[in-house]
Amino acid sequence: MDHIENDDNFKGLQVNKGISEQPIVNPYLKDFKKFKRKQYSVSEYVEGILNKNISILSQAVTLVESSKPEHQSIAQEVIEKCLPYSGNSIRVGITGVPGAGKSTSIDAFGMHLLKQKHKIAVLAIDPSSEISKGSILGDKTRMERLSIAPNTFIRPSPSAGSLGGVARKTRETVVLCEAAGFDRIIIETVGVGQSETAVHSMVDFFMLIQLAGTGDELQGIKRGIMEMADGIIINKADGNNIENAKLAQSHFKNALHLFPLAESGWAPQVLTYSGYYDIGIPDVWSMIDAYIDFVNNNGYFLHKRNEQSKYWMYETIN
Ligand code: GDP
Repeated sequence: MDHIENDDNFKGLQVNKGISEQPIVNPYLKDFKKFKRKQYSVSEYVEGILNKNISILSQAVTLVESSKPEHQSIAQEVIEKCLPYSGNSIRVGITGVPGAGKSTSIDAFGMHLLKQKHKIAVLAIDPSSEISKGSILGDKTRMERLSIAPNTFIRPSPSAGSLGGVARKTRETVVLCEAAGFDRIIIETVGVGQSETAVHSMVDFFMLIQLAGTGDELQGIKRGIMEMADGIIINKADGNNIENAKLAQSHFKNALHLFPLAESGWAPQVLTYSGYYDIGIPDVWSMIDAYIDFVNNNGYFLHKRNEQSKYWMYETIN
């Protein structure tokens, strides 16, 4: 039958007849279901993760991120069984506005850590990723060296739902990664909103990437984010920009003096570096190591981890 739109009443509109569905081009596609990934049992997942099987880890994370109840119940059991093997990593949060150089920096940080025989997991929290289709970490090529390196696990932000939901999934993924032997966990977020607080609540060290040379260096940075930072690192301190970066460094140092001392007792440091040209990367990690020593000695490290666990237990119950 012809389309009603082709009636004379609808001048200027011509609708062609449709065609019937084409046969399947690839006959093997019909049997695709047969090739679907194997569903493991809870103990197979746990065993695989503890045996550092990245493919199984990756599939377990997919279950964690799934909103299907049957996936969630397996995921929760796997997490519970992995919990006793978690906690043995240094968790670092990294934030900065788009373009600050987060992925370039994480690539450089990761390569530095790999040289020191660490295993690195890079996760992300980006509640906007459903809309932006994963502006952060969505595209693995942003970390060119790290994404093809061994002993590395890179995972984009879970994309479903509220910030709370996205954050909880990342938090649970941290547990699985640690059980799989990753001892340096980097959690990236975009420096534009609430997600900083979520990342801050699950890391040991929170780092803010800043840039120099925008005139008023402090403009556009939410005071709250600066206050959360254990370290401010000024990227792109290379070429003509070195002087500007040094200037920004002293501005930030002065600004930080105005804040009350953090609960940890640690005075946040301000460093300059270049992620792209690999300048000053070891200093950034020496700062983090110094912080970890400091809070291990004064007992704050464990205190904070305990507080964080309580916070997440409370969040989960809610
Ligand atoms: P992100 O959006 O925060 O992840 O930022 P990217 O890592 O994608 O970097 C944004 C842009 O800044 C890219 O064009 C990078 O090449 C550039 N960039 C990153 N780090 C540096 C650096 O240390 N020096 C210079 N000159 N450019 C950099």
